[in-house]
Amino acid sequence: MLEVRNLSVNYGQHRALDNAAIRLDRGEIVVILGANGAGKSTLLKAISGICEGKVTGEVTLGGTDLTHMPADQIVEEGVALVPEGRGVFGELTVRENLTLGAYGNRARDEEAANLERVYQLFPKLIERGGQVVRTMSGGEQQMVAIGRAMMSNPQVLTLDEPSLGLSPLLCKELFANLKLVRDLGIGILLVEQNAKQSLAIADRGYLLENAHIVHEDTASKLRADPAVQAAYLGAGRQDDRPAPKSGEAHADPPARTLPTFELRPAAQTTRSADAVLGQSVADLVARAATSDAQNVANRRQRLQSGQTRQARTSKPAIDTAAHGDRLTAALHEIEAAAARARRNAHRTR
Ligand code: ATP
Repeated sequence: MLEVRNLSVNYGQHRALDNAAIRLDRGEIVVILGANGAGKSTLLKAISGICEGKVTGEVTLGGTDLTHMPADQIVEEGVALVPEGRGVFGELTVRENLTLGAYGNRARDEEAANLERVYQLFPKLIERGGQVVRTMSGGEQQMVAIGRAMMSNPQVLTLDEPSLGLSPLLCKELFANLKLVRDLGIGILLVEQNAKQSLAIADRGYLLENAHIVHEDTASKLRADPAVQAAYLGAGRQDDRPAPKSGEAHADPPARTLPTFELRPAAQTTRSADAVLGQSVADLVARAATSDAQNVANRRQRLQSGQTRQARTSKPAIDTAAHGDRLTAALHEIEAAAARARRNAHRTR
């Protein structure tokens, strides 16, 4: 389904990926293992059209050439990325994040069915629909990130180190969830340093060292390979995951602090974000807002009719006063992402 041939990436003089070749089939989990700096994120970014370096080679999906397509068109073709650090909109609610995931033409007609599918995978997101994502734990945010990618109705889901920063228990849950996504027939390309758990759910794997794919095999053979065990399976390590990067703990952390962006007039922000996302971001956010407002209205109605004792004492699902601020902040986040995408496109030209 997904074929990568002779894919190379240069950041200036630095060769970060050298003639990589991988393939991914429908309903298959393929893991890319490699040390820090090996080129794993570069590979995923090049596939998704968001790489800052100079990209050469070929990426096809079901025979369609994705090489040098704009990032939003690649999503439209069916490739969704869950980036390192999750890429969720921290100031928006869970439901708003999911709605934004369905921005493309590909996803819009299937929005209700995809939302149902996401809720089946992550039932917790139903009850958390009105929660601002920034206030969720790392594991919960990872669910939102995967859910948002799933809302784009992908054929291929690519994930960059999704287990980073999660507690061992949440890691287990995450990998179990990825198996469920695979069972839906979606191909999963997973970049991980957590070799043990990722190989346990993967069908095949590739080893990436210093920009080169040096080995490919079935996951079971890789797990049994003494060289792989020594290099990636942490012989002698207490934990089955790599040591955390400095400053990161092996606990389910609270939300990361979101970067702050330069404030600009909302109209300008929305226009340039629209240019990248390919449709009106304001419409999307308004749609998300309407669905939340509807929920609040329903809840108020229940409160007034005194339907349940619990309903009388519980807080509204969202803070409507803060809603406008959150949406504005989200537009600035989108604008920053749009600016980055434009810069990348400019560099790779
Ligand atoms: P990690 O596991 O630490 O995230 P990785 O295998 O994902 O590592 P990449 O992020 O792909 O590695 O980076 C591969 C190499 O390319 C590294 O040497 C990195 O410093 C370099 N690199 C990555 N992005 C850029 C960039 N935008 N500009 C210059 N060099 C870059």
